[in-house]
Amino acid sequence: KKRVLSGVQPTGNLHIGNYLGAIRNWVESQAEYESYFCVVDLHAITAPHDPKALAENTRQVAAIYIACGIDPDISTIFIQSHLSAHAELTWLLNCNTPLNWLERMIQFKEKAIKQGENVNVGLLDYPVLMAADILLYQADLVPVGEDQKQHLELTRDIAASFNDRYQTPVFKIPAPLIRKEGARVMSLTDGTSKMSKSDPSELSRIHVLDDADAIAKKIKRCKTDAIRGLEFDNPERPECHNLLSLYAIVANKTKDTVIAECADMRGWGDFKPVLTEAVIEHLRPIRAKYAEVIQEVGYLDRVLKNGQQKAGEIAEQTLKSAKSALGFLLP
Ligand code: ATP
Ligand code: MG
Repeated sequence: KKRVLSGVQPTGNLHIGNYLGAIRNWVESQAEYESYFCVVDLHAITAPHDPKALAENTRQVAAIYIACGIDPDISTIFIQSHLSAHAELTWLLNCNTPLNWLERMIQFKEKAIKQGENVNVGLLDYPVLMAADILLYQADLVPVGEDQKQHLELTRDIAASFNDRYQTPVFKIPAPLIRKEGARVMSLTDGTSKMSKSDPSELSRIHVLDDADAIAKKIKRCKTDAIRGLEFDNPERPECHNLLSLYAIVANKTKDTVIAECADMRGWGDFKPVLTEAVIEHLRPIRAKYAEVIQEVGYLDRVLKNGQQKAGEIAEQTLKSAKSALGFLLP
């Protein structure tokens, strides 16, 4: 079986972009692949964070994985910081990664602007930590949203140059797995920027755990335009394209069906309630399952303990072969 690794940062409430762009694809492929899904909490401290919320957010992300359909009996779920190999391999890779490869990263440039004067080294190093996450597990495939494509390419470059420099195939070269639908869900308040956990406005995103009222409110207030009719693919109308695409996915309809349905509508006033209903129905079972997972005392801890153990066995092996290739005196 091919091996899959992916993760989400516990930087806030998971939104429908995280679900449609990443987690949904993990669920669909978990029977076919040997899968490892981690909550990447070490990544979450690359931006200013609240120490009082980190542990709870981390548990919540793991519970959402299960609520979305990741089955801990089939896939391995674990917490990145529970395995020191991630931080350790990052150092080994740091010393083999040119600085200018990192300075080119789009996410770094975008997030650095937001952090202003206080950009920390961790933010720059984020893609190397991500490379370590992936390479430790010798992953074949990494299912992510479109925004992570550049980091995946960097991971491949880091792996290939390491293997080449030390003349040992220490790392498998992973490939991204980006499904077209949902790969880039845009913000509800700005159709030109992606929906993000770290956007300060809650109105910019629908959380997977939002209740019906919250979903209705956010869609009611979301940005639209004053142009007649509803259409896909008009570059002048990014919000329109985003909302119709979102509807197609959550209602499980083809683009053509949506176009036909929208042709009968007078405009946003007709469309928004239909979209709202479809989103609510799509997320309803996830919210229900989440409540179950959280309620069962000790369940999540058992899953994570088990995951730590299973993931740790593989991670330790890779770390050892990386150290050995670098020439370290092994204990
Ligand atoms: P942050 O703002 O803290 O970076 P985020 O919303 O970008 O949060 P991440 O934890 O960085 O979420 O990413 C988790 C996964 O979700 C990744 O695979 C990423 O590609 C995917 N993803 C993030 N945002 C979107 C989006 N708007 N549409 C589709 N996929 C997304
Ligand atoms: Mg992100």
